[in-house]
Amino acid sequence: MTVAPAIVERLCAAAGPGGWTMDQHDIAPHLVEARGLFRGASPLLLKPPDTAAVATIMAICHETRTKVVPQGGNTGLVGGATPFDGGDEVLLSLARMNRVRAIDALDNTLTVEAGCTLAAVQQAAASADRLFPLRIASEGSCTIGGNLSTNAGGTQVIRYGNTRDLVLGIEAVLPDGRVWNGLRALRKDNTGYDLKQLFIGGEGTLGVITAAVLKLFPRPRDVQTAMVAVPSPAAGIELLSLGRGLTGDQLTAFELMARIGLDFVLRHVPATADPFRDRHDWYALIEVSGGDSPGALRPAMEALLETALERGLAVDAVLAESVAQAQALWRLREDLSDAQKPEGGSIKHDISVPVSRMADFIARADVAVRALVPNCRPVAFGHVGDGNVHFNVSQPVGADRAVFLARWGEVNKVVHDIAAGLDGSISAEHGIGRLKRDELVHYKGAVELDLMRAVKAALDPRGIMNPGKMV
Ligand code: ZN
Repeated sequence: MTVAPAIVERLCAAAGPGGWTMDQHDIAPHLVEARGLFRGASPLLLKPPDTAAVATIMAICHETRTKVVPQGGNTGLVGGATPFDGGDEVLLSLARMNRVRAIDALDNTLTVEAGCTLAAVQQAAASADRLFPLRIASEGSCTIGGNLSTNAGGTQVIRYGNTRDLVLGIEAVLPDGRVWNGLRALRKDNTGYDLKQLFIGGEGTLGVITAAVLKLFPRPRDVQTAMVAVPSPAAGIELLSLGRGLTGDQLTAFELMARIGLDFVLRHVPATADPFRDRHDWYALIEVSGGDSPGALRPAMEALLETALERGLAVDAVLAESVAQAQALWRLREDLSDAQKPEGGSIKHDISVPVSRMADFIARADVAVRALVPNCRPVAFGHVGDGNVHFNVSQPVGADRAVFLARWGEVNKVVHDIAAGLDGSISAEHGIGRLKRDELVHYKGAVELDLMRAVKAALDPRGIMNPGKMV
């Protein structure tokens, strides 16, 4: 099955000159998920220039029951933006819609189109002496539309929340081609269902987000960054609590990383160095930011590190003396995902549990996966300040990659069961997409699934929006 030529012709006309391609060489990068876990097929990539064109495209797709896969920067990790291999879905890229529509320093809002890269959004905010706090490793290539559709998390969630907490309004094109202009810049709007939140984190299954009004924050005048060697994840969690108290809750990042993760980075990423003389089992990367002048938060950070050392919550600590040093510390954390690749196959998890149960989760999952796959190498790291850990499991040294990866579902089941038993989630920030669709059915309650399916059926009765994803 594919898309009929007459439909393709109408869709191309709607996208306008330069707004489409059928060249498989150009389409190829859009057909594969970032980690190579999923591949698909599509005869047509549409790149409309504006909301009106998206609306026309969706109206045609609705009328002809043509399936649509919306796509931002294609950096997602669950196959949510990858078509299936039937060749009967058209790709809808928002890349050309990358204008900053408005910026208002008094309202503290920024109105942008879906195709703006996250880095461009951050820069636009900075140009008005404001902060847009969403920060993720792919910020140079991911787009704000994708961030919204997947409710991206990242490293600043502890202070500013997930993407859904950073949005005041959206504009979306519905599956039938109608445009919902919900671009309100209101901090308070108590007029019924908060419809924008259906589309945020909706993974493109309910419509296409074309623009958004984002919240801006004061730009921090000071940032202090430290790497702390901690004796255990439990000590790390205590350090987190201490940090919040001693810094007046100005903690903007709190990342935990096992030693093996640092080993991988030092081995595979050029120009990295261990900030400590001795080896330690666990590390916390702590960032405190805010204040009214450079250096304002240094005394608070120093007090935190001293107290942590006194109380045995820290074994050693390094406080960055410059922006360059802070960046070097962040690289040790942010390059970890890439540094896992040369170590062979890695079975991924994106778990969240209540912060108080994080240490328990890591301990139990560690024992369970080692029992299941002898000599496998758990690489726990992540945003433990939010109760979120990427509990990835690297293959045993010298093992066959394919044989190890064939146990993906089995390992997932064990880890996800432990998370569920601790009142956690199987997807903290990466979403469901194709990767966890079947598992969602297993872990969500019947009532919750009914509600999700009812929403999907109400907004997309013909099932053309990113079918086969999430619900
Ligand atoms: Zn993450």
